[in-house]
Amino acid sequence: MPKKITIAIDGHAACGKSTLAKALASALNYTFIDSGAMYRAVAYFCLQNHLITEDNVVNIEQLENHLDKIHLEIKASQLIFLNGQNITDAIRTPRVANIVSQVATIKSVRNKLVALQQAMGKSGGIVMDGRDIGTVVFPNAELKIFVTASTEVRTARRLAELQAKGEQIAQDDVKKNLLQRDQLDSTRAESPLKQASDAIVLDTTELSREEQLQWALEAVALLVAN
Ligand code: C5P
Repeated sequence: MPKKITIAIDGHAACGKSTLAKALASALNYTFIDSGAMYRAVAYFCLQNHLITEDNVVNIEQLENHLDKIHLEIKASQLIFLNGQNITDAIRTPRVANIVSQVATIKSVRNKLVALQQAMGKSGGIVMDGRDIGTVVFPNAELKIFVTASTEVRTARRLAELQAKGEQIAQDDVKKNLLQRDQLDSTRAESPLKQASDAIVLDTTELSREEQLQWALEAVALLVAN
């Protein structure tokens, strides 16, 4: 049996990372982990426990006092549970999207989630997507992919996803959220979003999901052959 490698997929918001990671993991029979869902779960915990001020600012001190009360579980690669509650759909709302990048700037939150992510990937055979997977979580991953797409395409894809779930949201608000998150994610002090020096770039702007998957499978095949 060929060796099971670690695949890190990073990139900006809504560029298709999770969709590709999920399809790739399924094709290879690997575990898929969406690390963004874990940061969203902590943001959801903040909303649930009133740790956000009226100005939409996360109360860092209170959150840090509550960190040991956050128990996350990921089941069947895709379902996320917070303290036993299935929050898989609840973390995909604009409310969560609006505060998640603030939560992700907090060092103690990152330390907790990175430790969990590293434990999940310790035996290889994993495809994990996020912002710091190739740089911090798995710096020794055999394959690192940095995904990009135009802002217009990213906005259109995220808008369609939200509308399919019945969310009423303006295109401009979706675009604003993506750009704000990209800005916070790329400029924060702790593990900012950046392309790992040994990552290969995939621009998904003009590629179908199937074309993206074929591209990634070829990258895996090349690696395994060498
Ligand atoms: O992947 P997704 O867009 O759902 O991630 C939500 C947010 O979680 C990102 O905008 C970023 O602030 C944070 N995140 C992170 N590091 C990761 C994954 C996500 O900081 N590895």
